[in-house]
This record gives sequence, C-alpha cells and structure tokens, in this order.
Amino acid sequence: MAEQKEATVTFGVLNETSDTESRVALTPDIVTRLGRNGISCIIESGAGNAAEYTDEDYKAAGATVASRDEVIATADALGFIDRPSAETVAKLKAGQWVIGMLGSFTDTAYVESLSNAGLVGVAIEKLPRQLSSAQSMDEMTSQNSVMGYKAAITAANAYGAFLPMMTTAAGTIRPAKALVLGAGIAGLQAIGTLKRLGAVVTAYDVRPASQGEVESLGAKFLDLGLDFSKGQGEGGYARALSAEEQAQQQAAVDEKAAGFDIIITTAKVPGRKPPVLLTAAGVKGLKRGAVIVDCAASDLGGNVEGSAVGEQVTEGGVKLIGAPYLASGVATTASNLLSRNVADILVHFVRDGKLGQDLTEELDDALVVAGRAAAPAAAADAEKSEK
Ligand code: NAD
Repeated sequence: MAEQKEATVTFGVLNETSDTESRVALTPDIVTRLGRNGISCIIESGAGNAAEYTDEDYKAAGATVASRDEVIATADALGFIDRPSAETVAKLKAGQWVIGMLGSFTDTAYVESLSNAGLVGVAIEKLPRQLSSAQSMDEMTSQNSVMGYKAAITAANAYGAFLPMMTTAAGTIRPAKALVLGAGIAGLQAIGTLKRLGAVVTAYDVRPASQGEVESLGAKFLDLGLDFSKGQGEGGYARALSAEEQAQQQAAVDEKAAGFDIIITTAKVPGRKPPVLLTAAGVKGLKRGAVIVDCAASDLGGNVEGSAVGEQVTEGGVKLIGAPYLASGVATTASNLLSRNVADILVHFVRDGKLGQDLTEELDDALVVAGRAAAPAAAADAEKSEK
C-alpha cells in the first residue's frame, strides 16, 4: 500500500441538503488517495448513504466521520455538489475553501457573497476544460456523461413500446426512432446508450465538428438544411445563435421532430440560458406516446418549451420530462467520478503542505477570491442580450 503523508490540510464534505441530490462529493477510495497527498478527510455522518457509501466505509478508508458542525469547524476546504446555501455559507470561516459548481456565470450576487465572507471559491464551471491538466478535474464532463446515459434509460422507461426491433411469433415490432439534440458529452453518451438499447438514433448539434462524432457512434446526423458553420464559439463550444438563426432552427427542428418517438435534448451554451430547440408547437406535432427528456431544463428554461425542472408533463399523449438531475440517479458511479474530479482540484492547489491560491495561474479564472469576484460580468451581459 502506498505511503500516507502526514496530513496538513483537511478536506470536509457535508450531507447535501437538496431533496433531489443523492450524490456525495467524496467516496471512500478517494480518502486513501488524498491521504497520499497529505490531505486528511472529515465527512458528515450519513453523507454517503444515498450513494451507498456507509460511515463505516469512510472510517475504514481512514476518514473521520463527524457532525455537520464539526466538519464545518475543522475543514480547510469543503467540497460540494449543490453549492452551499446562504445558511451554510454564513457558518463558514474566512479563509476556508469552497469547491463546487458555484453558478458563477449566472449568479453574481452569490459569488460576491462568498468573497465578502472571505472564502476562497473554486468555481468548477470556470475550469479551463480544454487544458489537458484540467481534464481530470472536469466535473461537467464526468457528470454530463452519466446524465446522458441516464437520460436514455429514463426515456426508455417512460416509453410505452420496445426500443429494439423484435421479431416474434406474433409479428415484427419496429424499432423506436430516437432523436438527440445537442451532441456534446451528454448527447454522445445518450446516443451510445439508446443504440445499445436497440433504437434507431438520429442526432443534431450546431457545431459542425459534431457530425463526425455522431456518425462514428453509428447514428445518423440530422440535416436541418441550415448553415451555422461560420459561428463555432471559442474553445470548441457552440456559440449562441442570433434570434433570427434561432427562429430558423426552431422551425426546422419542430418539423423534423414529428417523426420521432423519443427525443433527448442536452444543448447548452456556457454561461447562457439554454437555447429553445423545440417549441410548444413542435411538441404538439409529436405522435401520441412520444417521450421527451429535456436534460437542459433549468430555472431559466430548457431546450423544450414547457419543460419544468423535476416535472413530467403529459399533453396530447406526449410525455415531457424536465430532468437536469439525472446524474444523481446513478449516485454510486456519479459520486465516484465526481469525487475524483474534486480531489484532483484540491491536490492541484496544495503545495508544500498548504492550500495556496497564488501557486497556479492555469486555473486562475476559476478562483473566487475577495477583491476579484471571478468575472461573472460576461455572462451577465450575455443574459441581458438574450432578453
Ligand atoms: P455543453 O454541455 O455546453 O453543450 C452540449 C451540446 O449542446 C454541445 O455539443 C453544443 O454544441 C450543443 N448546442 C449548443 N447550442 C445548440 C443549438 N442551438 N443547437 C444544437 N446544439 C447546440 O457542452 P459539452 O457537452 O460539455 O461539450 C461541448 C464540446 O466541448 C464537445 O465537443 C466536447 O468534446 C468538448 N469538450 C472538450 C473538452 C476538452 O478538450 N477537454 C472538455 C469538455 C468538452
């Protein structure tokens, strides 16, 4: 067994308080790994239960299991899945580190509340994902991948017919036709899973580069007859379409969607509200029995008009599921991947036995520190221009 260093930094994890959250930001195998880097772990009793990791598992791995208040009082850095509530932030002490998805693109006030409290935030959503050294820290990739898988399972579960073609003594059943809109990390995983379940899959993404990725999975690329090729955004991400382009895209998607039984949407543009790809008219045009899973559903809206976070709406026999929390439904695996991401972030910032924000420039943009709340202005501008 690899040698454990004397611990000089304590990493704490609390029970996630949201009803929709089953994941935990630390799994027992990661406790051992952090120990090798001079980081000890303290976890709130019961924090891993919903993801099937018991207090005993954490103790056996060398972590301390304690009350919520003890964790808050002891930890130098805390890892979160859902960012800490105002109530939790009020209990944290100046100098403590908060690592998680902080919503910094859209919620300036929250980010300021952290820096005003003297906390150091690491906003995972701002990590430079394209840097090879940051790839193992990329929670969005790990969790979106889990989400795409679960979206396919969720759709299959809600759909009242088979996905695969099946030849039986009573006749042949045709395969389900599935459409995936947004073929990034989540979309590609949804395509792969739908194909494994036997559906005939078509997919669409606004990034020209995605066609080859979709086809390499054996799915068909949907040709909307529109050319958005000039406008791929920075860093390989989609750019936001203009209002006119969006209207053209919606009309084309609404028309093409009518032929599908299952639609999974995952389209996002970093720092902006998700684009509406399928309008209410498009939903109305679907066949009875069709199922839509909108993974981009959010309080700002989703990819499908009428989708609502955590709700299933049925209209005209079409089921519309607003499901941004799907990774939480695969909590054991999702937690393990996520805690590797968080641990790698933490280890990156520990040098000579101390947490230090000035030791790295690579991840600088993701840091929320008093006096320089990490540039949420660009996103605020983006939001204004959407309105
Ligand atoms: P995301 O979650 O921001 O968006 C999901 C998908 O929605 C993207 O593929 C995007 O192009 C698409 N989309 C946005 N607007 C759309 C619209 N109007 N119509 C149709 N589709 C739309 O993105 P993501 O899945 O996290 O990643 C996107 C890309 O970035 C992928 O190509 C991925 O491979 C790449 N990426 C690279 C790295 C890296 O280099 N390490 C890390 C993560 C992601």
